[in-house]
Amino acid sequence: MKTVLVNVVTPDGPVYDAQVEMVSVKAQSGELGVLPGHIPMVAPLEIGAVRLLKDGSTELVAVSGGFIEVRPDKVTILAQAAETAESIDVTRAQAAKERAEQRLKQQTDDIDMKRAELALHRAINRLNVTK
Ligand code: ATP
Repeated sequence: MKTVLVNVVTPDGPVYDAQVEMVSVKAQSGELGVLPGHIPMVAPLEIGAVRLLKDGSTELVAVSGGFIEVRPDKVTILAQAAETAESIDVTRAQAAKERAEQRLKQQTDDIDMKRAELALHRAINRLNVTK
């Protein structure tokens, strides 16, 4: 089975580094599946799960936006924040979700609403990745 090297990197350091059979991400243009040998490209990412098919099973990494750079033998995902399913603190994500929901109920100014929406989206994404 052909594989491609996937690196997920954040400002805090590398989060994931493995040879996988396939990687799929949530690009701003929609779901994007990448197989070994894919043509070079760069695309912006949404908050979402990166799915990695490795040795026949799927691993998940939560990413909070960023970019994917594809080359035929290597995929680099540059993210503002990223966590593997095992490293997600569920209690923290649940607390962040509840905090964001409270802020959204208070209906203050637009900037705070947008920040709360993004925080809620990140928290829900992390919780989904742990399921
Ligand atoms: P919080 O309000 O809990 O800090 P957040 O969405 O504002 O959540 P970020 O700014 O996206 O947090 O991330 C800050 C750092 O904390 C990053 O390194 C990120 O990987 C890490 N992080 C955030 N939430 C979690 C979590 N639930 N489990 C593990 N690491 C987390």
